[in-house]
Amino acid sequence: MRQEIFQEGIAVEAFRVGVIMKEKDILPTPNSRFLRVSCTECNSSQIIFGCASTTVNCRACGKQLTMPRGGKCRVITKIEDVLT
Ligand SMILES: [Zn+2]
Repeated sequence: MRQEIFQEGIAVEAFRVGVIMKEKDILPTPNSRFLRVSCTECNSSQIIFGCASTTVNCRACGKQLTMPRGGKCRVITKIEDVLT
């Protein structure tokens, strides 16, 4: 069940829309996730925190990758994968 939900494309889409359905667990787990993104300028990939409260820049070329918002940050580059 959980594996089906977090298949690659679906997981990326779910993060964008912000509707990640979670099974009710006895032990609560965090809703925040790490993302593997690739830079649109230089194509290098890096892992960022989905709720980064500061701007995150590309390690290689310095292009801005995220804009902070109240909760989840706005990702202004290509999301390759959502890590659980
Ligand atoms: Zn770059």
